[in-house]
Amino acid sequence: MKPIIGITGNYDYEADFTWLKNDYINAINRAGGTAIILPPVEDEEIINHYINMCNGFLFSGGGDMDPKYWGELPDRRLGEINPIRDNFEYNLLQKILGSSLPVLGICRGCQVLNVAMGGTLYQDINTKLSHNQRAPRDYPFHAIVIEEKTKLFKIIRQSNIRVNSFHHQAVKKLGAGLKISAIAADGIIEAIESENHPFVVGMQWHPECLEDEYADKLFRALVKHSSLHCR
Ligand code: MN
Repeated sequence: MKPIIGITGNYDYEADFTWLKNDYINAINRAGGTAIILPPVEDEEIINHYINMCNGFLFSGGGDMDPKYWGELPDRRLGEINPIRDNFEYNLLQKILGSSLPVLGICRGCQVLNVAMGGTLYQDINTKLSHNQRAPRDYPFHAIVIEEKTKLFKIIRQSNIRVNSFHHQAVKKLGAGLKISAIAADGIIEAIESENHPFVVGMQWHPECLEDEYADKLFRALVKHSSLHCR
C-alpha cells in the first residue's frame, strides 16, 4: 500500500531553497512508506490539500521555534528562527491534531508538537549533561529511560536505550493531553505522546540517523498507522 508520508521541509531564506535531509526520506521509504516533502506555505487551502493528500506526517528537525508561540520574549541564547516554517508547522499541526492522522515529530518536530498542544520549551537547556554531541550523527550518545505503559514502549520494547542528541531546546511545560514517554538522566524530556490520538509521538533524538532496530521500529510504526488512512 505504501502510505504517503508528508515530511515538513526546511526553508532557507538566503538561498531561497526548500530542502530536507535525505535521511528522513530514506527512513520512511525503507519502512514501507512513500515519502514526500511538504514545502512550508502560508496558504490555508494548500495546507488543507496536504492534509487530504497525506496518510501520515513526519515533522523534521531544524532550528529553534520562536518563543512568541508560547508567550515568551526571545532569550539571548535563542538560536536561529524561521518564521515561515514556524507558522506553517504550527498551522499544519492544528489541523492534524483535529483528525486521527498519525504524526511522528523528530527533535524540532517534537518541540513544535508540544507547543502546538499548548506546552512551552526551554529556549536553551542548561543541565550538566550534554545534549549536543560532537560525534558522528549515528553515534548513540546518551542514555534515556522509556516509561512503560506508553506507546513508545510498545514500539521499542526496551526501557533503557541510548540515543543520539543534537538539541539545545527541550520540552518545559507539557502540552494538554500529552504525556512523557522518555526522559534523560538530567530530567530532560526526551519523548512525548498524545493520550487522545492513535499515534502522535515526538522524540528529541534523531532516529533517521541511527541504523539500529529501535529506529526502524519507529518508522515502521508510523507507516503502519498511516496505512490505516489510505484511501
Ligand atoms: Mn538529548
